[in-house]
Amino acid sequence: MTQDDLGLKNRHKLMYDAEGRLDLKSLTREELERWFVEGLGEKRFRALQVYKWIWQRGISDFAEMTNVSKDLRALLAERAYLCTLSERLVQRSSDGTAKYLWGLEDGYAVESVLIPEEDRITLCVSSQVGCAMGCRFCLTGDMGLVRHLKPSEIVNQVAQINAELPEDRRITNLVFMGMGEPLHNLEHLDTSLQILLDDDALNFSHRKITVSTSGLVPQIGKLAERTPVNLAISLNASTEAQRREIMPITERYSMASVIEAARNYPLGSGKRITFEYVMFKDFNDSLEDAARLYRLLRGIKAKVNLIPYNENPSRDYRKPDAQTVKAFQNYFVSRGLNCSVRSTRGDDISAACGQLGREASGVGG
Ligand code: SAH
Ligand code: SF4
Repeated sequence: MTQDDLGLKNRHKLMYDAEGRLDLKSLTREELERWFVEGLGEKRFRALQVYKWIWQRGISDFAEMTNVSKDLRALLAERAYLCTLSERLVQRSSDGTAKYLWGLEDGYAVESVLIPEEDRITLCVSSQVGCAMGCRFCLTGDMGLVRHLKPSEIVNQVAQINAELPEDRRITNLVFMGMGEPLHNLEHLDTSLQILLDDDALNFSHRKITVSTSGLVPQIGKLAERTPVNLAISLNASTEAQRREIMPITERYSMASVIEAARNYPLGSGKRITFEYVMFKDFNDSLEDAARLYRLLRGIKAKVNLIPYNENPSRDYRKPDAQTVKAFQNYFVSRGLNCSVRSTRGDDISAACGQLGREASGVGG
């Protein structure tokens, strides 16, 4: 039985390996159960056993599934496989940040960044190789979209790093702020979130997961319908013209429509929408910008996250000085709007925002 016979929604071209075996780690628990029953003629509960071996025990070989019969293990090995990322490089920063470079089955690579803080350990996850959105200031944007990551490749970033960490120092928070536009890869993001949130798999709370988007308006609505995770919007501008200049996606979805989508995003109690605002010197860093941004966000349960631009030699943009950033922040704080400044982490290993680019991804040019 093929994936199409099952009507699985994951139609990624790498769902099967060269031998035609199915990538089981790209299936939700329900999909796996259906494949067991309809594809293998097995009992449904066997699927849950296998699913737990995969995600709770982290095993990567069917042979290790000791409560599964020998025959079934052999059948699984014939029809399916367990995808693992190959850890090509780990760079550790003096501030504790660690950047992981993962090799994929087809030779491309993506990165994840682990950010330990006092009260949390955050993993910044990639969702695509490259990105189609072409934001002018972003190195990932230069690559264009090479391909979507499949669910196993997204969840493995979390599972494989967790397996390396001591039990009391495991990942507590996930942010989809690595390479790629997660909402452009909504199907696979959705499957990944189901696995990440499932008690029988990685058991994250939806409160600890944040998806960051450049503002794909219809997909923001769809995410809201499917999975109630935290939403972050990369606004980065205080006028439509300014945003169009740095974020071409604004031609398709106006800044006003993005803010409207944020306004309509359902929020659980105590939750807020994060508006990320990359600050560029003499471009969007004046107090007039702050005042406009404040007006735009009125009536939304919002918090603002200022990100001083991480400079790159290939770009003319500069980062504002610390006083300008402070004054911008104070504008909001003095008016009762929650506003933080993102500290640069992992600068010495190029792990900061917008530095995850072509160089490491196996993409030529
Ligand atoms: N594609 C998604 C998530 C990945 S980008 C998005 O755009 O939201 C994560 C964040 O890094 C975004 O807020 C983006 O605006 C920011 N960013 C990109 N390049 C940057 C740079 N050079 N300096 C600072 N922030 C940057
Ligand atoms: Fe893509 Fe986000 Fe970079 Fe824009 S900022 S190019 S959406 S990764």
